[in-house]
Amino acid sequence: MLLCPPVKLAVPTESLAGERRVAIIPDIAAKLAGSGIEVAVQAGAGHAAHFPDAAYVDKGATVVADRTALLAGADVVAKVQPPSLEEVAALGPGTSTVSFLAPSNHLDVIRALADKKATAYSLELVPRISRAQSMDALSSQATVSGYLAGLAAAERLPKFFPMFMTAAGTVPPAKVLVLGAGVAGLQAIATARRLGAQVRAYDVRAAAKEEVQSLGASFVELELETQEGSGGYAREQSEDFLARQRELIGNEVAASDVVITTAAVPGRKAPILVTTEMVDRMAEGSVIVDLAADGGGNCELSEPGKEVERAGVIVYGMTNPPSAMPTHASFLFSRNVANFVGLLVTDGNLEPDFGDEIIAGACVVRAGDDLVAEVGL
Ligand code: NAD
Repeated sequence: MLLCPPVKLAVPTESLAGERRVAIIPDIAAKLAGSGIEVAVQAGAGHAAHFPDAAYVDKGATVVADRTALLAGADVVAKVQPPSLEEVAALGPGTSTVSFLAPSNHLDVIRALADKKATAYSLELVPRISRAQSMDALSSQATVSGYLAGLAAAERLPKFFPMFMTAAGTVPPAKVLVLGAGVAGLQAIATARRLGAQVRAYDVRAAAKEEVQSLGASFVELELETQEGSGGYAREQSEDFLARQRELIGNEVAASDVVITTAAVPGRKAPILVTTEMVDRMAEGSVIVDLAADGGGNCELSEPGKEVERAGVIVYGMTNPPSAMPTHASFLFSRNVANFVGLLVTDGNLEPDFGDEIIAGACVVRAGDDLVAEVGL
């Protein structure tokens, strides 16, 4: 019987400035080895997420100092961020990549991958079906973002989140409003509730009401029709809808100590939910944390990565929040990647079945040929 060589999976150090996550952590390297996949990591790849090289070696992975050699020798390259043009240039022909790819924002990279006859999978495009839940990196990373948004707001608010009854007097709980109650929003609600705040939330999807209430928060009812899209996502709202929403939500925003915004519509600019006029109506010391800052922001005043102050109100536009909690963000992300790679490998061979809706859905470039047209090239 002919033994085929093991599938080689390479994990380079993330090259995007400020990115501290790593695509595969040592425990997952060991798990992949058990399925006949050899993991090689670039020296220092896990360092910023607190996974030292020695931990990878302990789990049977190889540590490679030369990044170019690592990439050139790989069958599959696993990354958090989209590959850079320089990384694509170093790939051997026919390599597969698994990462976030944000295809419409990285057309040059998609073109370079196609030229390399690579096969590229975008984790954002994994369909949201039950079988793919363990590969849903958008959700796992949104969980981290939502948690951190709750903490970032509590840290910046010059007030307690919980109610305190002390000998010196009673302190009322902070009033937190969460706009957008998807994965990140629900986690922000849960975090603010655990800290004792009084939480209200609004989302355009009907299903969100029950989920918000199950976390002990109240749902803000607005006289607006729901905006259901496909795959559990909201559909893009008209400017007329958004104008009415802003009109109706204004008093809620003004009465809140904290507003956390998480509203996104995939592939589109984030809708403006909080205007400058609303910020001006908030009390001094109030805080807005905008998780949509990377996508243009839900608050008119948001600037990505910055804390803007306007008349005593802080507007914090968080960028790449999961990178700020890299150990557990990587812990979850690497499980998503390993589960996805597990689908691509059968009996130790890299043999993706493009009849599988998860593989076909996530594939942006297939051995350099078709699908490129779908992302607008
Ligand atoms: P997202 O990051 O695209 O958007 C965040 C939230 O913002 C969504 O809940 C959306 O409805 C909301 N939103 C958009 N425009 C808004 C507006 N104008 N005002 C208020 N809210 C607005 O979404 P997400 O968190 O990734 O996912 C949304 C939902 O998808 C989840 O809550 C869940 O129900 C579903 N989901 C399903 C699966 C699955 O079936 N495997 C996996 C993950 C999520």
